Amino acid sequence: MDNHGRVINYLRLAVTDRCNLRCFYCMPEEGIDWLSRKELMSYEEMLLICSVLVKHGIEKIRITGGEPFVRKDIMSFLTDLSKLDGLKQLCLTTNGVLTAPLVPELKRIGINSVNLSLDTLDRNRFFAITHRDEFLAVMDTMQALISYGMDVKLNAVVMDGKNIDDIIPLVALTKDLPVSVRFIEEMPFNGGASHYTALKWDYVKILETITAHYPEIKKIADPANSTSYNYHIPGHKGNIGIIAAYTRSFCGSCNRIRITPLGMLKTCLYDNGVLNIKDLVRQGHNADSLMAEISNVIGKRYKDGWEAEKNGNHVSMASIGG
Ligand code: SAM
Ligand code: SF4
Repeated sequence: MDNHGRVINYLRLAVTDRCNLRCFYCMPEEGIDWLSRKELMSYEEMLLICSVLVKHGIEKIRITGGEPFVRKDIMSFLTDLSKLDGLKQLCLTTNGVLTAPLVPELKRIGINSVNLSLDTLDRNRFFAITHRDEFLAVMDTMQALISYGMDVKLNAVVMDGKNIDDIIPLVALTKDLPVSVRFIEEMPFNGGASHYTALKWDYVKILETITAHYPEIKKIADPANSTSYNYHIPGHKGNIGIIAAYTRSFCGSCNRIRITPLGMLKTCLYDNGVLNIKDLVRQGHNADSLMAEISNVIGKRYKDGWEAEKNGNHVSMASIGG
């Protein structure tokens, strides 16, 4: 539990900062200064940290990046993680470029929930946003995830002048597909690209746009610790979520910590990293002393993302994990 009474039971682990897309809201087209292999934590190091955290209350781990599937041997790491005693849920976030053929194996090792990033249903707009022509591969992944019965969330960052025309078609996907389409406010984590000045599409404006088209939309219950406001359109198979990622309306119930590809522990998305956990592991700290250091920073957690941001930088989201 943190110093504000929030129970911490969810870890987001970014296994690489590398990526096979260049989403303009996440990183510049030329990429970022990728970490060297030595700077990244090894799978053994990550497994050790995860096992310590799971012993002390982490119940859910989300693997993210960069793009998790560009890291070599990721499937055997996922298999090892899935065997951690006490871990209730292992899930992941992917851009879907390399994921489709791996879906049966993901399912086999017990991954039942995948967040797939999909900002547009138009191939040309996909290219304009990501600088890569991989739309069809991502569609294949979406189909594979659905046909294997995964709990699928489609994440769309809402960007002024880029994919506003996609909001309604993305909502329409929920008519026949059992997916949750989640619209995310754009955050200023683009690794130095300069387009972000102010948030133009906040959750209120996103909801107004959807409601104008679907006046019958209904608010549904938000699961505990949910970062999204959730809605359902009567007669649709799937649901809609809106994530106020910039407005930060969910900090009061935040149950998550993050570990970056560099091995920094973050107790808030907006902080700068509060503990170099990789260094501690490399210095030979044992499980107890690692946990003592982690408990110490969890006991000094910022109240919310606004407080954390005062000491934070707006690096690329690929260096954080989302
Ligand atoms: N590469 C994977 C992917 O794109 O799904 C996983 C890592 S990505 C950093 C995780 C999530 O962060 C994605 O859903 C992405 O859309 C979101 N994201 C990245 N940059 C963002 C930004 N500036 N504002 C809001 N969301 C962002
Ligand atoms: Fe890559 Fe994901 Fe960032 Fe897009 S959002 S550039 S897919 S890490």
